[in-house]
Amino acid sequence: MNPVIINLWYVVAAALFIFGLKQLGSPATAVRGNILSSLAMVIAIAVTLFNKEILSFQLILIAAAVGAVIGAIAAQKVEMTSMPEMVALFNGSGGIASLMVGWAALYSTGNTTFTDVTILLSIVIGGMTFSGSILAWGKLSEVMTSAAVVFGAQRFVNAAILLALIACSVMFCMAPAVDSPYLYAVIGLALLIGVMAVLPIGGADMPVVISLLNSYSGLAACAAGFAINNNILIVAGSMVGAAGIILTNIMCKAMNRSLGHVLFSGFGAVKQATKVEGEVKPIVAEDAFLILEAAQSVSFVPGYGMAVAQAQHVVRELGELLEKNGAEVTYAIHPVAGRMPGHMNVLLAEANVPYDQLVEMEDINPRIDNVDVAVVIGANDVVNPSARNDENSPIYGMPIINVDQARTVFVLKRSMGSGFSGVDNPLFFGDNTRMLFGDAKQSIAAVVAEFKG
Ligand code: NDP
Repeated sequence: MNPVIINLWYVVAAALFIFGLKQLGSPATAVRGNILSSLAMVIAIAVTLFNKEILSFQLILIAAAVGAVIGAIAAQKVEMTSMPEMVALFNGSGGIASLMVGWAALYSTGNTTFTDVTILLSIVIGGMTFSGSILAWGKLSEVMTSAAVVFGAQRFVNAAILLALIACSVMFCMAPAVDSPYLYAVIGLALLIGVMAVLPIGGADMPVVISLLNSYSGLAACAAGFAINNNILIVAGSMVGAAGIILTNIMCKAMNRSLGHVLFSGFGAVKQATKVEGEVKPIVAEDAFLILEAAQSVSFVPGYGMAVAQAQHVVRELGELLEKNGAEVTYAIHPVAGRMPGHMNVLLAEANVPYDQLVEMEDINPRIDNVDVAVVIGANDVVNPSARNDENSPIYGMPIINVDQARTVFVLKRSMGSGFSGVDNPLFFGDNTRMLFGDAKQSIAAVVAEFKG
């Protein structure tokens, strides 16, 4: 196909990507946004196959079929609670693909210095994205400790690896070749630096690393686009890179931490929260029903446990019953609740909770003292008052939903166990807190059954 026509189709695909991304910004239009973006991807792939430099359609078709089967099975099988791990693997796949594309571009003749530098960048950023994402996957799926791993002289070791990487990169760029020993050194060091970068990040800081790796995968793709002179890869890569950086910024704000602090300080590495003690006041579903029945305003505060229990549908049902009973019902969403950005929004949208009942942290906190009952459903870190009160707590400074300031708080969880950050929660011992122990879905279903008589 004529390169001009190919590029015109790429412009169409780029425009669809942009419209798709825009529509993903609101739950009401997100499904359409997803369809538009998928269409853009189909156009981009189909048009790329018309490139006359393609050597083997058979291999491409076999690889596409294998990839499609793996993708379809994985998407069918993955639990909603494992989506963040899947996103980490997606980022890692993007990284390794860019590394491979960059590497393959070394085989083409007539590369300029600019191309060599972009090849190097796609290999370095792609490699560190790959290994960093695999480590993030390990931390999120808890096949390894999800805590920050820090050791003495860590910064010194990291600085030495970085210097070695820069030195090898320069040597490689001076004589780029497929069989250059510096190429293998660069690949090895890039993989190592990805691991070293993610190791000291853990606990409640993980949302930042997920979005940062997402951004890196975009930058790697963008560099690969320059390396093979493919416009749609440049455009799509820069969009992912920019979107990831914006998300990283939002996540940092949600944690009230600077990016430098997240990357280099090691979550909770030096701090030891004050020991939490007190009396716990458990209640049963019948008591919870009596209090809720008398409430004028109820705010649900969902967290990761709601995703585990898959309680969103029965929560919506309880919300409807409360509304019928005359109460004002809201759903207060913390930006890092759950295990991925927008996790709670996705679950509540799936359960058809009206969007106008979703309230952000900044909007609910100023009026939370007027809420009769805050119902915490499997949330823990995002409602932990020690983030506000205990300077020794590893999560000190992180904004939380101030449920402890509501008139009454119900906390629905299975045990006294801590949340993702591993920090104890004084909320459970509050005078106005009642613990409704058990699986969140079963607990809410029991309250719904009381309402229905
Ligand atoms: P947390 O992980 O702090 O707490 C979840 C709570 O849910 C646990 O204490 C657990 O208690 C409870 N739970 C688990 N299963 C059930 C169940 N079946 N029924 C009832 N309760 C259950 O969740 P939050 O949403 O409050 O906070 C999110 C944390 O994850 C933050 O630290 C955040 O930084 C981090 N994170 C967030 C990411 C994001 O992008 N949103 C990404 C990576 C990490 P019990 O075991 O006693 O039931």
